[in-house]
Amino acid sequence: MDIKITEEMDNLLKDNGIKKEEIQEIVDNAESNGTKLKARDGDLSIAKGVSDNVTMYAIYSPSELVDAYAHKMSILGLTGGELHDIASDDESEWECTKCGEIALERNVDMTYMGVTRPGPGLVCPKCSEFYISSGVAKTLKTAESILEEKRA
Ligand SMILES: [Zn+2]
Repeated sequence: MDIKITEEMDNLLKDNGIKKEEIQEIVDNAESNGTKLKARDGDLSIAKGVSDNVTMYAIYSPSELVDAYAHKMSILGLTGGELHDIASDDESEWECTKCGEIALERNVDMTYMGVTRPGPGLVCPKCSEFYISSGVAKTLKTAESILEEKRA
């Protein structure tokens, strides 16, 4: 599907250093192989793509791009290892399209410039695919800047 990118979204992409073609590719991949989260209530999807140590995300409706963001931290896996003790209150507003499972809100270990910290992620209990929400990505961006300044 050809995703519509409004001028406002185009500016957001530029601010985040994301190319339109990259967003289109992320959406195409997600739509063809089902590796995405879909809102349980509504028609939004979250898809991601990884390139050059950056993970990019696109949130989109069937017609247009709604949000886009990226983080440089890489996700190592679930904090504390395997998924266990699944409680219903861990359920997020999102569902894995490929597995039909409700994504869980779980901490994942994220690493950047030698520092590893847990942070909230969205995890499919079946395929263990991880996603980061827009709000968390903002926090990560701040953390990344602090680490980059320390190194400089
Ligand atoms: Zn899944």
